[in-house]
Amino acid sequence: MLKEIIGDNMVVVCNNCQAENSYNVSEKTVSFSPEFNEFENLNFECPGCHTIEIFNMNIPANDTDENFMSGDLPIGEEIQRYYVRLLMRIARPDLT
Ligand SMILES: [Zn+2]
Repeated sequence: MLKEIIGDNMVVVCNNCQAENSYNVSEKTVSFSPEFNEFENLNFECPGCHTIEIFNMNIPANDTDENFMSGDLPIGEEIQRYYVRLLMRIARPDLT
C-alpha cells in the first residue's frame, strides 16, 4: 500500500510484513508498450520479505475522468488512487 509521497520520497507499507519502506522515486520512469497499448507497471520490492508491490500506471490520469462517484469505492481505495496518480505524474513521460 502506498502511504505517502513527499517530494522525491515515497513510503510503501508492505502487504505481507507491514514494514514501511522508503524509496526515492525521482529517477523512476515507465515506458509505453505499443504491444499492450499501455504503460508498464511500477514494481517495488520489500527489502525485508521480498514481496513485490505492483502499481498500475494506467488508471485515468485525472480523477475527473473516473467513472465512479465518491462513495462507490472504499475510502482506502480512493486514497490509493490519489497516490498512484501522484506516482504516475512522476513516472510517466507523457504526464511530467
Ligand atoms: Zn515485507
